[in-house]
Amino acid sequence: MPSYRAPIRDLQFVYHELLNADQTLASLPGFEETTADLVDAILEEGAKLFEQKIQPLNQLGDKQGCRFEAGEVTTPDGFKEAYNAYIEGGWGSLAVDPEWGGQGLPETISFMLEEMLTSANVSFSLYPGLTRGAISAINSHADDELKARYLPKMVEGVWSGTMCLTESQAGTDLGLVRTKAEPRPDGSYGITGTKIFITGGEQDLTENIIHLVLARLPGSPEGIKGISLFLVPKFLPDDDNEPAQRNHVSCGAIEQKMGIKGSSTCVLNFDNAQGFLIGPEHRGLACMFTMMNAERLAIGIQGLGLGEVAYQNAVAYARDRLQSRAAGGSAAPQLSADPLLVHPDIRRMLLTTRAYNEGARAVAVWTAVNIDLSHRHPDAAKRAEADDLVSLITPVIKAFFSDYGYETTALCQQVFGGHGYISEWGMEQFVRDARIAQIYEGTNGVQALDLVRRKLFIHDGRLPDRFFRLLADYIEQQRTNQPLQPYLTPFIEALNLLRDLTAWLTEQGSENPNQLGAAATDYLRIFALTTSAWMWLRMIAVALENRDGNEVDFYRSKIQTGGFFLGRLLPQIHALNMAVRSGSDLLMDMRDTDF
Ligand SMILES: Cc1cc2nc3c(=O)[nH]c(=O)nc-3n(C[C@H](O)[C@H](O)[C@H](O)COP(=O)(O)OP(=O)(O)OC[C@H]3O[C@@H](n4cnc5c(N)ncnc54)[C@H](O)[C@@H]3O)c2cc1C
Repeated sequence: MPSYRAPIRDLQFVYHELLNADQTLASLPGFEETTADLVDAILEEGAKLFEQKIQPLNQLGDKQGCRFEAGEVTTPDGFKEAYNAYIEGGWGSLAVDPEWGGQGLPETISFMLEEMLTSANVSFSLYPGLTRGAISAINSHADDELKARYLPKMVEGVWSGTMCLTESQAGTDLGLVRTKAEPRPDGSYGITGTKIFITGGEQDLTENIIHLVLARLPGSPEGIKGISLFLVPKFLPDDDNEPAQRNHVSCGAIEQKMGIKGSSTCVLNFDNAQGFLIGPEHRGLACMFTMMNAERLAIGIQGLGLGEVAYQNAVAYARDRLQSRAAGGSAAPQLSADPLLVHPDIRRMLLTTRAYNEGARAVAVWTAVNIDLSHRHPDAAKRAEADDLVSLITPVIKAFFSDYGYETTALCQQVFGGHGYISEWGMEQFVRDARIAQIYEGTNGVQALDLVRRKLFIHDGRLPDRFFRLLADYIEQQRTNQPLQPYLTPFIEALNLLRDLTAWLTEQGSENPNQLGAAATDYLRIFALTTSAWMWLRMIAVALENRDGNEVDFYRSKIQTGGFFLGRLLPQIHALNMAVRSGSDLLMDMRDTDF
């Protein structure tokens, strides 16, 4: 059975030492009391719950899955008790506004805990994860009455939230949504239609489920401009705000699927169910994007969480399993064979996983700090700048983290040989669980299109300009840092490559839109690798300053892992650059009939 230990030391390194988040966040209004000690205490307490109560349910949840009978869903054994412990500890509402019962802590802390929770049990993490996204959409766009009625119980966690976008004919293209909303005399709406693939659409963890549903008003314009957002509760609350009358929404089935089997994936039927408009008519997709952007970041974190837990188990196995002798002579002659860890190819797989994980963790926490800055910085210009950075990096985190999460869980499974393929060790579950993050919440192909078609162009290219300037400034600051120079050189090359490619692509794409679509996935990976390289450079700089102190081993391995990233993983950008520049004709010239 796999085990998990939260990487607290590494999270502390990123938060306190790399990003100096203590000072940055405590200077924001409302966060004055977020001291280093408080952050450490929260990380440690969260780790206890996730390691001891939630992770042990992961394999069992996969085996048992969710069960569906007569419209009701039963989650795997132990999920309900664990969920109660989770909400009683207030873990779902750390960063929520105290006005609604949350704890008003920085998003950054919530992000770090999200990584741990997804490592422990990604299926479990989806139930409170979607509720958090729904809370932010309601808080940002609903009227005061809806907020007062629904938010306190959702923040408490006794009511959950869902995101109801997908229909059988409307997946990526939400302009094809057909669910209807008929106005009623009392100001509410009758919602009719069928949504598919709804995560947590029915479950037995909470006393009520609050669905956020995209639907069309009569006579609305075609496409996404005609979609509105509605809140549709499973039970309509009475005057005391207790769940009372059953609304006309029901679960028709749950899906059998490859992974995340402890998470229910539901067909939901709305049969003239009572719903309430959120935000302006026809602006539903824009309102829903508050939730979708939060979910995209959370889905990216799933790749990191699974990469981390897979790495931990693969290292333990590589130390124990004895096979063959080291190429340069036996490392453990007293044993029947040497541990797997002596073999360069095993180290390649482990270091690849670790280098992606630690780079991704730094990018994630940096992004979360920018989310907090974008919400709370007293200077509007600084808020806008942070918001630009978050907006630019969101599709990169969603797609790259989930892509590498799938790659690295498979690498860690490979470390186990045949034992990784059978269920007992739990490694094949990590691979299966990682796969969905590349697909849901907008496929990774669609994330890449968001980056190249939208984020590179909006506001006359302001977003990439800002980001590249930040990286270039860092290079200038470090020109005189002698020990860092060998690491700086490949990063300077990467930034130059990315800037040149961005200029080439935006020019080519303005003339031929297929150039953008053809380049998108490879371009996003170059962007992600360069961003991770920037974080690695910063981490190496901190580690070089501290390498003679008390934690010699920690800082040495940080420098070595960073060296591996820059020397062995970053060079992918050169091949990807050539692929992007080969242009779209290689794809588009083939006639449809020749496929
Ligand atoms: C387990 C699970 C849980 C889910 N949870 C939820 C949920 O809670 N709520 C919800 O609303 N939905 C949910 N979904 C739905 C999910 O978000 C969609 O499956 C996903 O967005 C893709 O839509 P689709 O399956 O219809 O694929 P399609 O849209 O048909 O796409 C098929 C392929 O075509 C590509 N493609 C489509 N359009 C373009 C384009 N313009 N350019 C290039 N390529 C394109 C896609 O990238 C993909 O590779 C869930 C799905 C699963 C499997």
